[in-house]
Amino acid sequence: MKVLFVSAEVAPYSKTGGLGDVASALPGALERMGHELTVVSPMYRRVSDGAHRLHDVYPEIPIPAIGARFDAILADDGRNWFVDYPPYFGREGIYRNDGDEHSRFLLLTHAALELCRRRGWSPDIVHVNDWHTGFMPLFLRSIYGSDPLFARAQSVFTIHNLGYQGVFGSHIVDDLALGSSRYLLHQEHLRAGRVSFMEHALIYSDAITTVSPTYAYEIQTPEHGFGLDAMLRHRSRDVFGILNGIDPEVWNPSSDPYLPSPYSASELEGKHANKAALLARARIDPDQGFLTVGIVTRLSAQKGIEIALRPLARRLDAGHIRLVVLGSGERRYEEAFGWLAAAFPGRAHFQNGYDESMAHLIEGGADVFLMPSLYEPSGLNQMYSLAYGTPPIVRRTGGLADSVTHYDPARGEGTGFVFDHYSEGGVGWALDQALTLFQNKAQWQILQRNGMAEDNSWERRALEYDRIYRRVTGEEQP
Ligand code: ADP
Repeated sequence: MKVLFVSAEVAPYSKTGGLGDVASALPGALERMGHELTVVSPMYRRVSDGAHRLHDVYPEIPIPAIGARFDAILADDGRNWFVDYPPYFGREGIYRNDGDEHSRFLLLTHAALELCRRRGWSPDIVHVNDWHTGFMPLFLRSIYGSDPLFARAQSVFTIHNLGYQGVFGSHIVDDLALGSSRYLLHQEHLRAGRVSFMEHALIYSDAITTVSPTYAYEIQTPEHGFGLDAMLRHRSRDVFGILNGIDPEVWNPSSDPYLPSPYSASELEGKHANKAALLARARIDPDQGFLTVGIVTRLSAQKGIEIALRPLARRLDAGHIRLVVLGSGERRYEEAFGWLAAAFPGRAHFQNGYDESMAHLIEGGADVFLMPSLYEPSGLNQMYSLAYGTPPIVRRTGGLADSVTHYDPARGEGTGFVFDHYSEGGVGWALDQALTLFQNKAQWQILQRNGMAEDNSWERRALEYDRIYRRVTGEEQP
């Protein structure tokens, strides 16, 4: 099938979180299955400034709906196209929240279709992601609906995080350039003064996927539905949960260029040298005897920092653990981890920022990886941790529930530490479980190897997307 895949971020060109990883790895896996992929994302300043080999293939493609012209740039990989429109994308960073945020991603949405027109390329599937490209399904049914090029195109919308919906005031309605198709907008909400990108994707896409089976269920409940649960329940026959995967080219302890000492399940000793390197880089005292807890995360309320701070501080104070945190985001969390590091020099370290090499070193060098998320659509770091023999401590929610099982020493089964309650008590209990098991080296290695044996490859997950593509195109009966 010909698949047009549109995303606000695509690693390694642009990335702030899991979306960027998925938009890179999933199209790659689909291509290896035999599909033909065109991936479209914006030419942010960091892409043009980066060391990528890019080719200006189609200059000055017009977008009649909004009266703009963009250049279509192709990467050396032959799959990734960039929409070069400097007035919108030539700014620092990826997401901006300037007054024209909606216009930036509407332009991306139009541009992806105009690129198809210029190439005479007729997609079978138009796969879009998160609120940024949420108007694509409606565009395909309205302004682009009469173009024979898109007559076969079926839309698939993937929710990577329902917490970000792209809700704007109704003053943006003209920017949607829907003309006489304006009646297709959610009229009641328009009258109430708002337009939601995510909501229109849920109404008009042919299939809705999200990034884990548990999250697919959770978002249909009032507790996790962010106000859209009723709409999702209404479409529940078309809602599918597919866990994200990991890209073994990028996340593989036996070939990771960021690790001073590569290792595998059969030679776990290699992990010690990475732990030593991590402790040195974090300026933590070099004694390897302490359970070293790693965290790599966006610092947002979703990630459960609130319930982790005190249990971590108590165990640091008692001298039972070491802590290495990498993250950036909300100031209150940056300050809290800053205090923790200052209060426990030589035991705790906080690096405020985004750092690919440190993220890999934490996965390779820490003993456990903590993800106490309030909610977690899929989560990637727990899967990286499993692959790196760094058992994850997670809360039983979303993709964490689908990818980590609590270790049972009696049977030697399980891959990490799983707690249920979103509370300090929950984190404390799980940390103590890990501390106890860590004393038993034989058991600990069984736990590590169980995690390393998990198959979270994208090849498996791509098969599930393939099934949905065939369902919406009518090749396969539901
Ligand atoms: P989310 O998409 O909610 O941020 P995921 O666990 O799905 O969470 O994906 C997070 C991705 O971003 C992982 O690849 C992780 O390593 C990376 N990441 C997050 N914060 C940082 C950081 N400060 N430095 C480097 N990588 C980071």
